[in-house]
Amino acid sequence: MSLSNPKVGFVSLGCPKAGSDAERILTQLRAEGYEISGSYEEVDLVVVNTCGFIDSAVEESLDAIGEAIKKNGKVIVTGCLGAKKSVVEAAHPSVLAVTGPHALEEVMAAVHANLPKLHEPFIDLVPPQGIRLTPNHYAYLKISEGCNHRCSFCIIPSMRGDLVSRPIGEVLNEAENLVKAGVSEILVISQDTSAYGVDVKYRPGFWNGRPVKTRMTELSQALSELGVWVRLHYVYPYPHVDEVIPLMADGLILPYLDVPFQHASPRILKAMKRPAHAENNLARIKAWREICPDITVRSTFIAGFPGETEDDFKMLLDFLEEAQLDRVGCFTYSAVDGAKANELPNHVPEEVKQERLARFMEVQERISAAKLQTKIGTLQTVLVDEVNQLEDGSFEAIGRTKADAPEIDGVVYLDDAEGLSPGDFVEVQITKADGHDLWGGPPQD
Ligand code: SF4
Repeated sequence: MSLSNPKVGFVSLGCPKAGSDAERILTQLRAEGYEISGSYEEVDLVVVNTCGFIDSAVEESLDAIGEAIKKNGKVIVTGCLGAKKSVVEAAHPSVLAVTGPHALEEVMAAVHANLPKLHEPFIDLVPPQGIRLTPNHYAYLKISEGCNHRCSFCIIPSMRGDLVSRPIGEVLNEAENLVKAGVSEILVISQDTSAYGVDVKYRPGFWNGRPVKTRMTELSQALSELGVWVRLHYVYPYPHVDEVIPLMADGLILPYLDVPFQHASPRILKAMKRPAHAENNLARIKAWREICPDITVRSTFIAGFPGETEDDFKMLLDFLEEAQLDRVGCFTYSAVDGAKANELPNHVPEEVKQERLARFMEVQERISAAKLQTKIGTLQTVLVDEVNQLEDGSFEAIGRTKADAPEIDGVVYLDDAEGLSPGDFVEVQITKADGHDLWGGPPQD
C-alpha cells in the first residue's frame, strides 16, 4: 500500500458563493487526509467547481472540464453548471460524476468511490477555520443557500432551490474560528441576506450557550461582538433592513449596504419580479442616511431589460441623480438560458442597450467621482490588502476603506508602506481621488 496521501486537483470558477462551496469541499477533503493541488497532472483526480450563470461562464466551465480530462482523465464536476447534468455529460461523456451546487456530501461520495481515502483520517491537519480561497485577512461567510424569489432574469432558484438558512450557531462558530485564525473582515453573503431565517421562522439557535434568533439583525449584532469588520452583501430593501442601520451608526458593523436595486421604474421592477419592488427606495435611502450619515450604499442595475422604454430608462437615470449612490455596477440585459424574462415581448436592440449603458455609466461616474472628491483631506481607517516593493526599493500598499468591499469596489494606494502587512488597519489621510480609487499617506498634523 502506498504511504503517500491521495491527491486531488481542485479548480473553482464563479462567484463568491461558489467559492464558499469550494471552501467546504476543500476543508472536508483535507479533513479526510487528501492532499490538494492546483495542478491537473500530478494528482489522482480533479474536482471542477463550475459556474453556469451566463453563457460565457458555461463555456469557461466546459473548457476547464475538457482541459482537466485531457491532462488527467479522472474528473468530478460540481457547482452551478452541474445542475444541468445533461449539458456536462453531452460535452464530456467521460466525467466520473456530476453534482449540482451545495453538494458537499455527493462530491465526497464521488471522491470516495474513485479515490478511496486513507484509513487514518488526518483530522489534525485541518485548521479549525477550514481552508479558504480568499487572502488570510478577509473571508466570505455564507449564511444561507437558495432563494425564495423568482426574478424573471435569474435561474439561480432553479439551480439552487428555495432558501435554506444555515443554523445560526454554526454560522457564528464559523465566524469565530475565522477571527481566531486572523481574519480582520467578514463578508456576509447569500442569495438574499435580508431573508435569513425566513425558512425556519427565525427560530433561535444557540451560540456560546445563549439563544440567538436566526435573523439578519441578531446575526449582525452577534457578529459585531467579534471585533472585526463585518460587511453585509445582497441585502434586499425590506422594511426590517432599517433595523441594522443603527448598528452601523454605532460602529458595530460596517456602514455599508450592498443592495441590488436592478432598476427604478416600477413597471420594469414588476416585470423583473424583484423582491421588495413596491418599496419607496429613495425615501429608504434618505432615512438610512439620516440615521447613519457615512453609510455607503452600493448597488447593481440592469440596462435594456425587455420592454424597457426610453421613459423607463430616464426614470432610472433620475433615480441615480436623486439617490447619489456611492458605488454602482451596471450590466446590459443578457438572456440566460432558461430564464422567464426571455419570453417577455419587446426585447431592446443590442445597440440601444449599449447606448443606455454608456449613458448610465456617464451619470454614475460623475456622481462617484464627486463623492470620492469629498474624501480628500479626511482621515480613513484602511485595511491593508497587499504590500509591494517597488523598483526603487520603496514599499507601496494597497488597501480599502470601510466603504470598499474587496474585488468589486475601489482601493486606496499608500506610499511609504514599509513595515505594513496584509490585514493591518492603518489610519490614512486621503490626498487624491479619481473616479474610482483613492490615494493617501500617514496623517499630517
Ligand atoms: S433574489 Fe432574484 S436575482 Fe437574487 S437569487 Fe433570488 S431570484 Fe435570483
